[in-house]
Amino acid sequence: MENKQTDLLSLYPEELTELIVSLGEPKYRAGQIFPALHKGIRPSAMTNISKATAEKIENALPCRMPEIEQKLVSKVDGTVKYLFRLHDGECIESVVMRYNHGNTICVSSQVGCRMGCAFCASTIGGKVRDLTAGEILGQVIVASADMGERISNIVLMGIGEPMDNYDNVLRFLRLVNDERGICIGYRHISLSTCGHVDGIRRLMKEDLPITLSISLHAADDEVRDKIMPINKRWNVSELLAACLDWWRATGRRISFEYTLIDGQNSSPADAAHLAGVLNSALRGKPSRGEKFPIHVNLIPVNPVRETGLMPPAPDKIEAFRAALEKKGIRATVRRKLGPDINASCGQLRRQHKEEN
Ligand code: SAH
Repeated sequence: MENKQTDLLSLYPEELTELIVSLGEPKYRAGQIFPALHKGIRPSAMTNISKATAEKIENALPCRMPEIEQKLVSKVDGTVKYLFRLHDGECIESVVMRYNHGNTICVSSQVGCRMGCAFCASTIGGKVRDLTAGEILGQVIVASADMGERISNIVLMGIGEPMDNYDNVLRFLRLVNDERGICIGYRHISLSTCGHVDGIRRLMKEDLPITLSISLHAADDEVRDKIMPINKRWNVSELLAACLDWWRATGRRISFEYTLIDGQNSSPADAAHLAGVLNSALRGKPSRGEKFPIHVNLIPVNPVRETGLMPPAPDKIEAFRAALEKKGIRATVRRKLGPDINASCGQLRRQHKEEN
């Protein structure tokens, strides 16, 4: 059984209707309130319902829209970073990236993270709590309302491990896709996981045509064990087997993220090993007459003060990319957005915590 929802924004339309009716209000109110909520208008700010009715509803279940605690706009590329404050004073981050094809928001799924990846700022203080579906959705709503622009793509790549908050993340995906609300197509949504195999196997059965991103970062179990503790639970071969099954079940491509850390996972031997492992696990395993489209996103590690990890020199990064391509694996080096606002997730929240 799913837990009971604690905020208005987390409710499916049918649940909102149920609540409204239980408060003695006509059913059609829910049809007014749901779209308004998803535009960032709380019941008490709606002009077509009375103050008393709005109060009754918000007393029954609070709205809990995230509040903008801090907003940074990059002078270089217009990337916008938000530090949002939640009802209990906890903070999370979201980033809006501006591309030619539209705005993409990167949202957080938890306050902190318990996955313990060695290079990541979000996990340093551990996990504080899960976000509700409404708190994940609220990031999209408030950012869009604040910018006065539509957001057309979502990546679940902010603070937290989405698969570690499965029920709320799934609820968020369904809510943000709802045609009575923001209505973002599943094909415009990516979910990134550090390699939570149970989550991947569960999600492939939900029949949502989203894109899956896998934070791989090492193809060798010994190295991956060291930088990503989740590898001790599900190793590289179990993870890639789940990826193959995902692709066979959904027909949706997977993108592999590989953070390059100097001296840890970025030598020519690491590139050769990565290509070998991906090719033997995935290539030559066709489904529906197609070959698994392997694509690796290379991300020079973003230095986090507490970790001391550094990216390799540019020529080493290029050599790594070229070595993958030579083995038939498409690889691109990710362009860094918002370099002047420290746009990678997790760092602003830490800074804010230290200062307060
Ligand atoms: N927990 C999920 C989603 C959040 S992290 C996951 O692990 O996929 C989003 C991406 O940023 C992941 O690929 C993560 O490994 C990467 N990342 C975290 N810290 C980083 C850093 N300091 N430099 C570069 N990438 C980093």
